[in-house]
Amino acid sequence: MKIPFRKVGNTPQDFTLLKDKTTFKGTLEHFKHGLIMLDAHLEGAINLPCDICAENFDTILNEELKFLLSDGIFNGHDEDYDVVEFLDGMIDIDEVLSSEIESLKSDYHSCEECKKQN
Ligand SMILES: [Zn+2]
Repeated sequence: MKIPFRKVGNTPQDFTLLKDKTTFKGTLEHFKHGLIMLDAHLEGAINLPCDICAENFDTILNEELKFLLSDGIFNGHDEDYDVVEFLDGMIDIDEVLSSEIESLKSDYHSCEECKKQN
């Protein structure tokens, strides 16, 4: 799902993206010149190998995500939020979701069975 930067104004624009077992839902809203605020909720589950026993299991997601999307290279610095750059004038929601899932996957995960044994 791609949304052009120029289509996002001061009225929050809803989006919902379903992918595998996850639901990524939120709003896009003008923040300041060249920047859009993404305020979203990620829920559902991702299937991951356990770091202890290597068995795949579902991890339940319940993440609040809030960051800025930049139309082009962002040269400034924002104190409060991370900034994600898009270079073709389009906000790629799938890419935002994929990179978020990748970063969740890189965290430490142990399955219920292994948790019980600790
Ligand atoms: Zn395990």
